[in-house]
Amino acid sequence: MNLQWKLSFLFLLNLGITIIFINFVTKYAINQHFYQFCQLAESGIPKCLQSQAGLQFMASINSSLWVVSIFGSLLALFLGYLFSRSFLKPFQNIITSTKQVSKGDYKIRIKAKTYDETDELIVALNEMYGSLERIETLRKELVANMSHELSTPLTNIYGYLEALSDQVITKKHDRKTALKLIKSETERLIQLIGELKKLAILESDSAQLSLSKIDINQLIKKTTQSFTNKLKDKKILLKTSFDDQIGKISVDKNKIQQVITNLLDNAIKYSAPQGAITLTTKKINNRQLNIIIKDQGIGIKKSDLPYIFERFFQADRSRSNKVGIGIGLTIVQKIVTAHGGQVKVSSIYKKGSTFIVTLPILS
Ligand code: ADP
Repeated sequence: MNLQWKLSFLFLLNLGITIIFINFVTKYAINQHFYQFCQLAESGIPKCLQSQAGLQFMASINSSLWVVSIFGSLLALFLGYLFSRSFLKPFQNIITSTKQVSKGDYKIRIKAKTYDETDELIVALNEMYGSLERIETLRKELVANMSHELSTPLTNIYGYLEALSDQVITKKHDRKTALKLIKSETERLIQLIGELKKLAILESDSAQLSLSKIDINQLIKKTTQSFTNKLKDKKILLKTSFDDQIGKISVDKNKIQQVITNLLDNAIKYSAPQGAITLTTKKINNRQLNIIIKDQGIGIKKSDLPYIFERFFQADRSRSNKVGIGIGLTIVQKIVTAHGGQVKVSSIYKKGSTFIVTLPILS
């Protein structure tokens, strides 16, 4: 039985019970009135009650009540069916839209306006469809870009290698230049593959934590060391400040290292050469600590800020580096949330960004 019929029968049941109740009360009341009427009759109460006119009066009242009950019930069923149909219309739209979305049509939106709680459900679903549509568009772009990004360095490497092996490049200096270019194109490939590895991390279960007690300051210091070359290449100064009040805390070491890596990597990527980055740890209270990474880079537009944690989102790709694929921050947020923490960002376009990771201190 579908929901519409169930609601109609609920209507019927509701009204049916009310009618039966009214039926009994009315009969009782009329009996009482008739008795009072017979008290005034000259023939005496028993005769009056048993009189032909009295019995007929009671019978016609009875049958009227039955007619009212039956028609009332039918009317209740009919109205219930009608009302429940309009009540269920938005749900029909929701079912249709989710079916469309499951087939890959993310453009669909639910239009119903119900002026009740169903509106909240419709708004939430429309938001979800919007977000799925954005992710799907970005994913398609990513696949197209990635294949292009991978094929360009590979074609270049192949070209140089061919020229070298055919001995087209004869001068020692030119050969050196070709080898340098092969090296830099290979590095680019390694970077791109690194991004694809991040995608695998994202798909893996980041919520599954393997906690151990560690000195977070030490972990961050160790992580920053792996950035020495990158910082040197861009002549960026990394200033660090560690709060010694933070004792050992319980975190998933590898995953928190990934968080620091992604945030620091971005701070460097989106900073101009000779910029400065500060990395600070701070104990807020006995229950929480902050890791703050601040850069003076390209900044993020206010309109882009709400989306930067969404997978595949890249603010202004032409300004961003072409190697990233827009999942670094998604991974950061996923890991931090799994630890019961949160990550916040504040940014001034063209001035710089600050990422604040708040982690709970679990002993
Ligand atoms: P990506 O691989 O593109 O760096 P992320 O998920 O790490 O992906 O970041 C998403 C987008 O957020 C980036 O493309 C960039 O536009 C913006 N972004 C992230 N970090 C910074 C930063 N420190 N400064 C400026 N923009 C940033």
